[in-house]
Amino acid sequence: MYPAQFKKINEEEVFVKWDDGKEFTVPMRYLRDRCPCASCAGESVLWREYKPPPLHVLMPGKYNLKSAEVVGDYALALTWVDGHNTGIYAFDHLRRICEEYNASVIPSGTSGKS
Ligand SMILES: [Zn+2]
Repeated sequence: MYPAQFKKINEEEVFVKWDDGKEFTVPMRYLRDRCPCASCAGESVLWREYKPPPLHVLMPGKYNLKSAEVVGDYALALTWVDGHNTGIYAFDHLRRICEEYNASVIPSGTSGKS
């Protein structure tokens, strides 16, 4: 699984196209809120239930992607305008984010059919 394309399409969203032809549009806010780095994700096992209180309240640029760089053929390193750059999004994590978001915006009942 490999993102053939990953680009900002406007001030709020990125477009991801995968090598299997699937295309997703994901809000940067959604991506950033799922940053896998230790300081964002907190306890990795419990992160869905427990989120550490944010150390710094919303900084300008937090949800604005500055750049993305492929790391070692397995992940994308995202740099945000607020300077945050420790989030390494493994491709399978990124794909899951895409699919989760996609599933969340499609009304239940229409998803899951093939
Ligand atoms: Zn992070």
